[in-house]
Amino acid sequence: MDTSRRPHLLDALPLTLAQRVQVLRQRKHLTQLGLAEKANLSLAAIRDIESGLDLFLATAVRLKLARALGINPGVLKVVERPVDDAGGDDAARHLPLLIQVLDDPEAGYTCPDCSERLVIRCFAREDMNETPMTEVKIHCSQCLFRAHHTFSQGR
Ligand SMILES: [Zn+2]
Repeated sequence: MDTSRRPHLLDALPLTLAQRVQVLRQRKHLTQLGLAEKANLSLAAIRDIESGLDLFLATAVRLKLARALGINPGVLKVVERPVDDAGGDDAARHLPLLIQVLDDPEAGYTCPDCSERLVIRCFAREDMNETPMTEVKIHCSQCLFRAHHTFSQGR
């Protein structure tokens, strides 16, 4: 096979996790729902990854995704941003807000940076030891503000 005629499969991939997953999914001719089902993940999880809300994948999630996409997990890992990079001091700074959201997700919250509406996502899931936990994600509808925290049961 003459490989010089077309770009290398991986070289041509986007450099963000969100776009990379989307492109790989489309190459497989899968919808978001199709990928979710194939990877045994929730549709919300796929949406969060492709919308850039999730910048770092749990190992189990990365493996499931990679398997469903027919790629090596490293192809995803290389463009992930570790939680510390994404949140860092901000994660701790915004913890009180995240706890408020956990207690009352419907209250309506505004961005601490620009006062625009915050988009709230809470979902229950289990860690690899099947411990129930609630993941709270918030991001601003206007600026780049985002924060998330995973609360284990009883915090
Ligand atoms: Zn904002």
